[in-house]
Amino acid sequence: MRIVTSIAELKGIHVPGTSLVPTMGAFHEGHLELMRRARHDADCVVVSLFVNPTQFGPDEDFAKYPRNLDQDAALAESAGVDVLFAPSVEEIYSPAPTLIYVPEVTALWEGAFRPTHFQGVATIVLKLFNIVAPKRAYFGQKDLQQCLVIRRMVRDLNVPVDLCFEPTVREQDGLAMSSRNVYLSSEERAKAPLLAATLDSAAKALARNQEDPSSVLLEHQSRLSSAGFETDYFEWVDLEAMHPCRSSDTPSAVITAAKLGRTRLIDNKILGNGRLI
Ligand code: AMP
Repeated sequence: MRIVTSIAELKGIHVPGTSLVPTMGAFHEGHLELMRRARHDADCVVVSLFVNPTQFGPDEDFAKYPRNLDQDAALAESAGVDVLFAPSVEEIYSPAPTLIYVPEVTALWEGAFRPTHFQGVATIVLKLFNIVAPKRAYFGQKDLQQCLVIRRMVRDLNVPVDLCFEPTVREQDGLAMSSRNVYLSSEERAKAPLLAATLDSAAKALARNQEDPSSVLLEHQSRLSSAGFETDYFEWVDLEAMHPCRSSDTPSAVITAAKLGRTRLIDNKILGNGRLI
């Protein structure tokens, strides 16, 4: 595996049919599963590792985000990655960079709680697509709104890349794997699986279609509040614009973001077969 830090060097080793996995590092099984999937589908796998400053708000954890290049490089190599692209901030951004704005799907949920977040995500992902020129790119359904934002950007801007969205990898107790789980105290970690269990229970109740959806959502949200979660939102949304949804006729998901102490967790449950396409 080659570790590359410059855009010029990366462009020099471009292989047609490359697969790209964009990440911010601190690899866990969720990341490694995306890499293995990409390895299975392509001749050349590029993983980008870049803690992207433009997607963090001023009061967020950019400075303390976990970073460990040596460990990440060893894990990426074990997953069969060919190139780990780990540029500096200066290599990627000019002092006042052009930023990409994706409408509608960014308006609510993470877009409302983290107002500049998706602008940063769309910008770095488009830049990586232009730098790596992959045939396919892999993203995790764990960040469902991010998947929909990228899908919309790719459609609207005619970006020649195939998007692959992969299921959320979970700990044995159901907690979605996340680089930020290391922030949880042991007491918070013990409570954290309730988030996924509550999403599952709400999704089942909504799919049964026997109770008023708003009551189902409220009842499940209050289960989380009673257990000590501070929920930013707990909603049933469609899988296009992420508008609130009240019928299981269209593809949909239950989504939530909730704080446990100072750690903010996000998770979702897609109704039906659990896959975003
Ligand atoms: P990050 O390093 O957090 O930016 O994540 C890089 C990629 O890994 C994104 O496409 C995430 O959605 C994906 N990812 C993060 N956690 C998981 C998980 N538990 N299961 C599957 N994919 C994940």
